[in-house]
Amino acid sequence: MTRKQIPRTLCPHCGKTALCTRPILDDLVCQTCQLRFLRAPKPCPGCEEPKVLAFYDHQHRPACATCTGNEPIYACPRCGHEDRHYGRYCAPCTLHERASALLADRTGKIHPQLQPVFDAWMAGKRPRSTVQWFTKPSACPEILRAMALGDLPISHDTFEELPSTRPINYIRDLLAATGVIEPYQPLIARTTHWLNEIVGLMPKHHADIIHRFAQWHLLRRLRHLESQNKVTRSATQNARANILTAIRLLIWLDEHSIELPATTQADLDRYLARYPGRGPILARFIDWTNSTQLTHQLRVPAPARPDLQVELAEDQRWQHIETLLHETTIRRYTRIAGLFMLLFAQPLSRICRMRPEQLTLLADSVTVTFDTVAIEMPAPLDELLREHLHHGGPASYANHNTWLFPGRLPGKHLVTENIRGELVAHGIRPHHARHAAMFQLAAEMPTPVLAELLGLSPITAGRWAALSAHTWAHYTAMRHTSLQGNHHNIELLANTISPRSHQSPQQPQ
Ligand SMILES: [Zn+2]
Ligand SMILES: [Zn+2]
Ligand SMILES: [Zn+2]
Repeated sequence: MTRKQIPRTLCPHCGKTALCTRPILDDLVCQTCQLRFLRAPKPCPGCEEPKVLAFYDHQHRPACATCTGNEPIYACPRCGHEDRHYGRYCAPCTLHERASALLADRTGKIHPQLQPVFDAWMAGKRPRSTVQWFTKPSACPEILRAMALGDLPISHDTFEELPSTRPINYIRDLLAATGVIEPYQPLIARTTHWLNEIVGLMPKHHADIIHRFAQWHLLRRLRHLESQNKVTRSATQNARANILTAIRLLIWLDEHSIELPATTQADLDRYLARYPGRGPILARFIDWTNSTQLTHQLRVPAPARPDLQVELAEDQRWQHIETLLHETTIRRYTRIAGLFMLLFAQPLSRICRMRPEQLTLLADSVTVTFDTVAIEMPAPLDELLREHLHHGGPASYANHNTWLFPGRLPGKHLVTENIRGELVAHGIRPHHARHAAMFQLAAEMPTPVLAELLGLSPITAGRWAALSAHTWAHYTAMRHTSLQGNHHNIELLANTISPRSHQSPQQPQ
């Protein structure tokens, strides 16, 4: 068998010698150059659709095949679109085909219980990356295949039997995020697992108390947080610390032959004198033993409250703001989160939990509602937000529309570490930055306005106001003389950090 030899020629686009058989704008180009072209569709000057502009129209403008009377060789043979090239078909058509095959039951139709997964995939903004997940060596689509065929039950129990690896947890999260299985909170699941192990190692009289403390107090609190989508790693770590600290006290009491119900304040004071660092964490356990009548009116003295501190000078804060406004090498969502922190004193954990509906895009302005009041975003932060909504973050296909900063895992928002790390790399320490912002805002706004704008408790807002030694009576407009002559963006920013619709009692000039 002989094949007709096609001579290699010089590709007019990249200059390499290759098989150049693909017509792009009157030239025959190599496969690489053609692919690059296919992956960058642009609005066609003729039909205004996103198309592969590989042909010249009569005005010698690059245009699509249809508008120039050519065979639409670059269109998806299934749906006719040219804007999301992927292999033989376009990315959505490829995804449709693969997902239908993966999730099909024995009748060949998508398993009805798995339909929401299919829908979430098809509604995703990035069909290409979803298709790529199917072929990732580390992914385990075969679990979904087995579920579709009825070989594995579609339930949490199935996952309890499987190893707890990242790819498998990913599928579990995906099923939970799309409502196929009950929602579950992996942090709580792991804490419960850990607790059962610890309790299993303890003598019975301790195990009973710790089990009750954990079940009825700590885990209950975590589940309550979960219902508000507020479970964090540190909340579960605190719960573990509460349990370990309680166990240490019980062991100490045993060593001193003291029964928990017979413990006196003098015993507890002696213990805390020996281990002063344990007091704050132990307090929760003692509160609980008091309230359940296991002990009687024991008290852990409250530690002195550390003073609020501001460790970031005001000009330094504005330099950070400048950096985040203009440094395009920093990821967009990091810039936005950092600006929310530096301008509006929002904690990162709360920023990460923000929802898209907290943002309102109007023709001439963008507002953000951190708490109850819509605040107009200063330029150029408003533009950053518009871009962010347009492009999204490193989203997974199951959680766009749910979170303003969607994470890569289904149903999850970004984790604070994701943003914190990049800020720190640019010399911005979130804790200091937020305190500096709080300090400055407290100096500029009356406490109730501050509390309402930023969602702070009035007490916290009041403490900041007191620290900045300003009261409503001394309310002054924001000044930042330390950065004289700097960009007018800063002026704009300063002037617009005020509630859009809030009726202030008087607006001093
Ligand atoms: Zn080429
Ligand atoms: Zn066209
Ligand atoms: Zn298609």
